Amino acid sequence: MSKSPAACSLCPCAACPAGRKAPEKGKDQETEGGATKKKKSVPKIFFGTRTHKQITQVARELKRTLYSGAPMTILSSRDHTCVNPEVTARPNRNEHCKELLDAKSGQTCRFYHSVHKMQDQNTLQWVHGLHQAWDIEELVRLGGRLRACAYYAARELMQDASIVFCPYNYLLDPLIRESMEINLKGQVVVLDEAHNIEDCARESASYTVEEGQLLAARDDIDAMVTYNVRPAHHQPLRAFCCSLLNWVQDSCSALQEREYESSCKVWTGTEVLGIFHGLGITPATFPMLQKHLAAVLEKEERVGVVNGREDTVQVPTISSPTQAVLKSLFMVLEFLFRNNCKFAEDYRVALQQTYAWTTQPDLPDAHGFFARPSAVAAATAPRPWCTRSASGA
Ligand code: SF4
Repeated sequence: MSKSPAACSLCPCAACPAGRKAPEKGKDQETEGGATKKKKSVPKIFFGTRTHKQITQVARELKRTLYSGAPMTILSSRDHTCVNPEVTARPNRNEHCKELLDAKSGQTCRFYHSVHKMQDQNTLQWVHGLHQAWDIEELVRLGGRLRACAYYAARELMQDASIVFCPYNYLLDPLIRESMEINLKGQVVVLDEAHNIEDCARESASYTVEEGQLLAARDDIDAMVTYNVRPAHHQPLRAFCCSLLNWVQDSCSALQEREYESSCKVWTGTEVLGIFHGLGITPATFPMLQKHLAAVLEKEERVGVVNGREDTVQVPTISSPTQAVLKSLFMVLEFLFRNNCKFAEDYRVALQQTYAWTTQPDLPDAHGFFARPSAVAAATAPRPWCTRSASGA
């Protein structure tokens, strides 16, 4: 799932967040009797469903009503909407899309630069024929025909849409909301089959990370410190990763065998607060870490004023996977520490170690006979996961 779309840095569209139109002057103002009044904003309807398939069904139902021509959009992942064949052929479309838009390799996505062909509700309805409730496959087909990105078009269409269809987690997960630029304040939210919402809310406030991801994040941040990129901000984040990794390593001996292929230990929220306290991560110190993370995510840095204009330079940032690990861990910590740790007991933190079974190749024994293959247990990386317990969701 996309967490943070990047802006293309090869053309002037880099001045706006990915694909977003620069605000039009006076767009939300209207004139009446010579006086300029602020235009009354009409709430959008955000319609959340559990699966993408259900969105298609609801869109079909909408098509049968009087409101079939209402401006709409469907938010979806790049897995469903990317139209760049070089990216769709790869397993991790999010990462490849972000790499292209960051233009780190000197390449960019040509489909992204044509998104303007279908990002406007009027053009979509009256030029491209999607004037009645449509489903995501129709938008993707249109994107393929126009050679324009359906993923960013769907996001842009949200601006003037009256109805926005999306899966539940786009409305519940704070990181997805942020990356998709969804602001629910003052809007209408409709949840289809709302009895599923508890599970989804619990998932949205939980996170699972593997030791390998933490190690990669630590090394990534370490490289930033080594190359003297914002060391004052990267050093505390590196210390944060090191503390977590040390805790994971130290705790491995306390794990108990669980089933045949894994061992595990679970801590209550209160116990976890004590553990984090021992690591120096407390409600008092956490806001500082949040500030360091916000600082290292800035792609530009102000260097002064030249001829009355602010001068900025581009600064290297940590990789997208490292950003995702830190943002997700910080999201869980933010919930844990929120309102004086009021919700801590809703959480459980579990450390799980799994074993992969491998077979050794047949090797002849001392007498030249082949031995039967034997199974050996190879410990895989421990996985700490934080989850809101069923009772607390
Ligand atoms: S088509 Fe869109 S989603 Fe796919 S790589 Fe290009 S910009 Fe990203």
